[in-house]
Amino acid sequence: TVPLPHLDAPRRIVIANQKGGVGKTTTSVNLAVALAQGGLNVLVVDVDPQGNASTALGIPHQEGVRGSYELLLDEVPVADLVVDSPEAKGLKVVPATIDLAGAELELVSKVAREQRLSRAIRDYEADHDVDFVIFDCPPSLGLLTVNALVAASDILIPIQSEYYALEGVQQLMRTISLVKRQLNSDLELWAVLVTMYDARTRLSAQVAEEVMAHFPKETLHTMIPRSVRISEAPSYGQSVLNYDPNSVGSNAYRKVAQELSQRAMKEQE
Ligand code: ADP
Ligand code: MG
Repeated sequence: TVPLPHLDAPRRIVIANQKGGVGKTTTSVNLAVALAQGGLNVLVVDVDPQGNASTALGIPHQEGVRGSYELLLDEVPVADLVVDSPEAKGLKVVPATIDLAGAELELVSKVAREQRLSRAIRDYEADHDVDFVIFDCPPSLGLLTVNALVAASDILIPIQSEYYALEGVQQLMRTISLVKRQLNSDLELWAVLVTMYDARTRLSAQVAEEVMAHFPKETLHTMIPRSVRISEAPSYGQSVLNYDPNSVGSNAYRKVAQELSQRAMKEQE
């Protein structure tokens, strides 16, 4: 592991794509662990009622555990909700329980319903050292994802190397520009990551080309290979970086962490 430099100000990355199964959670989890293993302070906020990121980071999230539901609905401070992940020193998690599934509807009638996550994170950052905050979103563009888009400064879109890879990205871009115009002018598309890349297929190469043509500035040089080790790791409650540190998947996520760290350092010069 290469040590990564601390940032002057926290970067808040929302991992967004309303398509399910494109690698949002896998990227949230393994990027967070790679950054923390590099020596950075990282906070993962699990905003998906499925709680898959919580599982993969070894955090209990059965009903009754407090987490992002309490953050959004009861305005419990983040500091009272964070749990240390056994995956890496410096890695903290606000878990998600299935209660969060009801939050989308319950939030509708609340004051400042779109800003709750943003305010909570800013309060936490005011008296804690944080380099990166990572929001793992559900596969929809509802109020949970909107809360994450309002709380974030940077968007990372994972795109699965598959047929119709870019389908739906236009809708996502429309939501992003709406949020940017009305709720969070700081929001920027920061990075696009090709996931589940299979070097043996022409299709993967075509998708990668298409993504790079569409997002020339944003697309990361590193692509995440399709790898069984990556998909096995969560069932052991682990990131691939601890499950199999020398696998191609671990190397790829460490490289993504380095690329993003370099981007962030360059932008703060
Ligand atoms: P999302 O959060 O976008 O729904 P996930 O990260 O949960 O997507 O990934 C969907 C499925 O694909 C999961 O079973 C996951 O383990 C698997 N997966 C993700 N990335 C890879 C990869 N690079 N190689 C193989 N399987 C992967
Ligand atoms: Mg997910």
